[in-house]
Amino acid sequence: MWIHVIVDVPTGQTDHPFTYRVPAQWQASVKVGVRVHVPFGIGNRLIQGVVVALDVEPTEGFEIKDIAAVLDEEPVLTVEQLWLVEQLRHQVFSFKIQLLKTMMPSLLQSQYDKLYQATEKLGSDDCQRFFPNGPERQASKMNPEELAEIQKLVAKKQVEVKYLALDQASLKYENWYRSVPRVLESLVISKQAKRRLEARDYLLQKSDEGRLVDFNKEFSSAISKYFREVGAIEVYSKSISRSASFFEGVESTQPPVLNPQQAAAKRLILGHVGEKKTQPVLLEGITGSGKTEVYLQVIEQVLKDGKNAIVLVPEISLTPQMTKGFIARFGHQVAILHSGLSAGEKYDEWWKITHGQARVVIGARSAIFAPLQNIGIIIIDEEHESSYKQDNNPRYHAREVAQLRAQYHQAALVLGSATPSLESRARASKGVYDFVVLNQRANPLALIPSVEVIDLRDHRTTKGEQTISPPLLEALQETLERGEQAVLMLNRRGYSSFMMCRVCGEVDTCPNCDISLTLHLSTRTMNCHYCDFRKGIPQTCPNCQSQDIHYYGTGTEKAQKELELLLPEARVLRMDVDTTRKKGSHEKILAKFGQAEADILLGTQMIAKGLDFPNVTLVGVLNADTGIHLPDFRSSERTFQLLTQVAGRAGRATKPGKVYLQTYNPDHYAIQYASKQDYEGFYREEMRIRKMAAYPPYFYTVALHFSHKDPKLVEKIAYQALGTLRQFLSPNAILLGPTPSTISRTHNLYHYQIMIKYRQEPRLEAVLNHILEISQTKEFQAVRLTIDHEPQ
Ligand code: ADP
Ligand code: ZN
Ligand code: ZN
Repeated sequence: MWIHVIVDVPTGQTDHPFTYRVPAQWQASVKVGVRVHVPFGIGNRLIQGVVVALDVEPTEGFEIKDIAAVLDEEPVLTVEQLWLVEQLRHQVFSFKIQLLKTMMPSLLQSQYDKLYQATEKLGSDDCQRFFPNGPERQASKMNPEELAEIQKLVAKKQVEVKYLALDQASLKYENWYRSVPRVLESLVISKQAKRRLEARDYLLQKSDEGRLVDFNKEFSSAISKYFREVGAIEVYSKSISRSASFFEGVESTQPPVLNPQQAAAKRLILGHVGEKKTQPVLLEGITGSGKTEVYLQVIEQVLKDGKNAIVLVPEISLTPQMTKGFIARFGHQVAILHSGLSAGEKYDEWWKITHGQARVVIGARSAIFAPLQNIGIIIIDEEHESSYKQDNNPRYHAREVAQLRAQYHQAALVLGSATPSLESRARASKGVYDFVVLNQRANPLALIPSVEVIDLRDHRTTKGEQTISPPLLEALQETLERGEQAVLMLNRRGYSSFMMCRVCGEVDTCPNCDISLTLHLSTRTMNCHYCDFRKGIPQTCPNCQSQDIHYYGTGTEKAQKELELLLPEARVLRMDVDTTRKKGSHEKILAKFGQAEADILLGTQMIAKGLDFPNVTLVGVLNADTGIHLPDFRSSERTFQLLTQVAGRAGRATKPGKVYLQTYNPDHYAIQYASKQDYEGFYREEMRIRKMAAYPPYFYTVALHFSHKDPKLVEKIAYQALGTLRQFLSPNAILLGPTPSTISRTHNLYHYQIMIKYRQEPRLEAVLNHILEISQTKEFQAVRLTIDHEPQ
């Protein structure tokens, strides 16, 4: 028997299946989608691989080796996932094995790595299963704890020892504890037997089932041992789901009656379930229009019809608020996947999905690969979010994967947003996507908030820039007096964004990156936001030693200090990367704010998305300009989206909301349209500009990034690649660069980029693969290349 295996060697030369022979002992266990251990290369080193086809013809003229072992009892990849890899390989310029590994739970990889490291020490049967041809095993070298750790990994599931009260009758029997010598009875009853009696009552009244460790903690292991011996309890192991805590204390909710717009959207979407040729639906609905409710009720129907659902939300919106909403409707049928979970928790959710125990998968970007079967609908909420594109290899876009999966399952695909990406909105105009609009707030009493633009140039004082202008301060005071809450956004963390010497003009920059250091007062350090370099706060100019140094640019830390001075009574919560590093801290801050333990929530763009707090009536954007002048053709689109999102946090229930946008560019069209909450107006204006400048959605784009510690070399190699592109592409392709990237150096590496803009280039995929392959040879002199299809 011969099979095809994709080996775990990410290079161009190995990016295709290799043929292996399966010895008789493995023939029953080898399946498509399992991992195998195979000898590879000249030294026949054992490496991991994935079986992609069975019963293939042996290749002529090549030596065919035997697989060493099958690593999984059940496939860890589905046939659909293997198909997806083949499809994605056309647009994602990384190797198949990288795509395959992205689809597997990370626990499997870390398990493999740990086992591999442990081989030299191991003697257990488990490891023999994994590494039958591995190095000489020496059992004696492994201590019991290490062995237990490995066994847990092999078991993959977390196992818990439980007890169960078996025999109520024997528990009730008065004298069963008196199996002690008569002479000692009185003595024993006063101590040990008294404890046994208490333990008995505990079992009878409190819980007749639970974790043995809890019972032992409450009583003792001697007591549980005794109870076992007399047959009063049974002890057994149970594999438990590590993510079970998500489901605790969530009360189920009844679906509200949809308003006519929502009902129409639901009908339209359901009409696409089972469609032969996928036509995605763009659901454009203003903030608070009840898109989430539409998703919930559409899914309810899909489940009733026996099919399953995937819902993608941006990572940051995966707040308990959002997940609870889904659990409240669908209970234990929900699986949740996001980066906040431990590898074990992710594995358990994955296991639930592969074993058909989950029917609604809700998660961030990578959840699009969830091995869910029989999919009826895929929903991508906030579809415009750039986080749906992975920004390291493999650089896939969840929307593209969703489109493929929808096609595979004949499922409906819904893209929802208040501010759709220009690409999606343009496709809706052309009829490529079906299109449905919700233009009213779902709650008829909730009005669209009114927005006021504040020109910061009118409020400059002798002391320099003002973080909170007088009109915003007044509005804050009024809001707090009414007992309502405010959300303030400042999309810049730290205290000050840079230090400059007023004598020589020196700006304190990172030694590893071409970027200024940010002052953080909480840690008393100057930090680089790219490479995490830190140093003490300088007292004098690092260049001329002058003491006349000054800090510019307000970050969230400083804004918090200023708020405390201006509004000493106000309770302020700050939410940014620095206050949410610890697991669960994000949720804690939001819970506190939701329970009215604070008046003002101040944060970076983290706070713009998904929050639904009825008592928030004021939203202030302290500096609407932070992203507007970035050298990126999407900077206006991103600014418009962010401002619209954050404005949507105000007045979501019955109280009217008010939004203040502070800006130095009050006439900029992104700010103007955001202040009118006019997506369609913005869309038309931005499309005009994109057309003029030949950018998406009128042109497709690919970016090539080159990096190396030698700037001359990286430039030279980039020019060579440009030559190759010129040679193969049509004269209609527009090639920009090579130019140094916006931040020309990070982590001591210099970055160059080439941007390709094109409409139709049949040879593009081939030439890019060609360059990718060369990039791994001597010709590139270790310059690192990444190819980014539709860069964000
Ligand atoms: P979106 O996702 O479009 O921002 P949500 O789905 O979060 O909007 O809805 C906004 C608010 O309106 C929520 O509090 C939600 O519970 C409520 N809501 C949604 N649909 C209805 C409805 N049909 N009837 C009453 N309230 C609704
Ligand atoms: Zn100086
Ligand atoms: Zn740095």
